[in-house]
Amino acid sequence: MANEDLQNYIDGAWRHSHATEYREVRNPATDALLARTPLSPPEEVAQAAEAAQRAFWEWRQTPPVQRIQYLFKLKTLLEEHFEDLVRSITLENGKVLDDARGEMRRAIENVEVACGIPSLLLGDFAEDVAHGVDEYMIRQPIGVVASICPFNFPGMIPFWYLPYALACGNTVIIKPSERTPLTMVKVFHLLEQIGLPTGVVNLVHGGPDTVNAILDHPLIQAVTFVGSTPVARHVYSRASAHGKRVQAQGGAKNPLLILPDADPELTVRIVTDSVFGNAGQRCLAAANIVMVADAGKTFTPLLAEAAEQRKVGNGLEPGIEMGPVISPQSKSRIQGLIQAGVAEGAHLVVDGRNPVIPGCEQGYFLRPTVLDGVTPSGTLAQTEIFGPVMSVLHVATIEDALTLVNSGSYGNMACVFTSSGAAARKFRHEAQAGNVGINIGVAAPMAFFPFSGWKESFFGTLHGQGKHAVEFFTQTKVVVERWLKTWSRPF
Ligand code: NAD
Repeated sequence: MANEDLQNYIDGAWRHSHATEYREVRNPATDALLARTPLSPPEEVAQAAEAAQRAFWEWRQTPPVQRIQYLFKLKTLLEEHFEDLVRSITLENGKVLDDARGEMRRAIENVEVACGIPSLLLGDFAEDVAHGVDEYMIRQPIGVVASICPFNFPGMIPFWYLPYALACGNTVIIKPSERTPLTMVKVFHLLEQIGLPTGVVNLVHGGPDTVNAILDHPLIQAVTFVGSTPVARHVYSRASAHGKRVQAQGGAKNPLLILPDADPELTVRIVTDSVFGNAGQRCLAAANIVMVADAGKTFTPLLAEAAEQRKVGNGLEPGIEMGPVISPQSKSRIQGLIQAGVAEGAHLVVDGRNPVIPGCEQGYFLRPTVLDGVTPSGTLAQTEIFGPVMSVLHVATIEDALTLVNSGSYGNMACVFTSSGAAARKFRHEAQAGNVGINIGVAAPMAFFPFSGWKESFFGTLHGQGKHAVEFFTQTKVVVERWLKTWSRPF
């Protein structure tokens, strides 16, 4: 990919930004410069919002069955360009090709679900709520909507929203992460080919000032956000203060319980994939591995061995299981957190802090790290590390484990590995998390389920994906209707 200053896509055309500041996009595996992201000024957000507003009326009038014809074309193009998009994700984010494939597959699945919008939009109807009076509820689009996205799933997360927003009749602005904007640029080149009316979809690059311009702009009716908790909280409060509809997904610190009766082979494979997949940069990565009773005796050595064996390198190469983290700053932050854990008494079982990856000496690599005996109230157990670090904690009973799980400030995901149905049932029932895995390490919901999150992991009510997205991107209108005419009796 050539080095280039990226352009915004506004009102049906690619446009140079008048940004005065740019952010470099680098391949985290090699440090090679890939592009520069303009930190677009508020005027460019305003141009996108005005273009989307101009497009809204015609798009709203387009019947849903016609709107989804564009999505069918998009699905075809995404399939045709699948490997190109996958490679782009790996280049800008560092994750291995198979993880990028899984990401794009879920993105496409959301387009497929949104193609069902004619059924998903069906309203409710009640006849004779009073004599000769009928009442019904219809769903109408809300207008211009915007999605603000994080770096870790540059291909998938915009698709939690974009296809539903469009299918429901809204017009859209996407603000990708300034660190991983390239895959969305490719997606917008495909969106350009499906012939959507001018202004229906817009891409605005940028950083915090661009985000704030989105949150403040009066034409933008709804905002979705995915990213870290402090920014999620900021987005939620600032956009809500302007009367916008908002959903904001935040960070995570996901606990995963291992009971002594868990299947060793399955547990070790799946748990290490959860902790170290995407180099731990998944909001559904397991981070705190909670050994119940004497499970640690069996499982800690097995997990440590699997961590040591993980093949780390450039995600573009075959056979690699873990790529780099996103930036040098992220790498040194993670190294610092490991050091803080050691200082608080954790035992470093596998130390992945300073690896040398032949051929990738400039990349931002860590190897898997495993720490045992982590203090539940300490830095390692409480902080979202967002890197390939496994913290092992020990508790006596499943009740103690649930107390630990539910004392955490986040609530994105909680998992249990066991062969006991009763223990699994108790866990599912009591764990305070929006996504629960039972013998599953990354409990990522299919596109027809909402991507939930509780506590500090989510601000709002309705989530992305499936029926929640349909509800979020529509407003309900209830009509009470009377027609006064007396007909002759038919029977
Ligand atoms: P981030 O919060 O740094 O950035 C997310 C977006 O917010 C970006 O588009 C960025 O430009 C913008 N932004 C950053 N700082 C801002 C500020 N001060 N004011 C306004 N806008 C700002 O997040 P990230 O590092 O890109 O992504 C990683 C985080 O996202 C992790 O915390 C991870 O857990 C979380 N995440 C959560 C989910 C979920 O579903 N809950 C999914 C993926 C990622």
